[in-house]
Amino acid sequence: MVVTIYVEKCNGIDACPGNGLCIDVCNLDAIENINGRPVIIEEACTECGLCVMNCPNEALSK
Ligand code: SF4
Ligand code: SF4
Repeated sequence: MVVTIYVEKCNGIDACPGNGLCIDVCNLDAIENINGRPVIIEEACTECGLCVMNCPNEALSK
């Protein structure tokens, strides 16, 4: 797992203060909306850290 999403901090995209900002900032389309939750596509993620820095709930780490 390259980037971890903490489900206790991310309550899903509908509840996200940034409207799913993690998905928007990832230039590599390495985060997908699956059933309303952000999911990291491991083989596409380069660990650039953009999503980690931009999540308003600090729900991501690498
Ligand atoms: S670390 Fe970078 S490449 Fe990986 S999911 Fe986050 S924004 Fe995308
Ligand atoms: S930006 Fe953070 S709180 Fe919003 S959907 Fe992504 S991981 Fe969840």
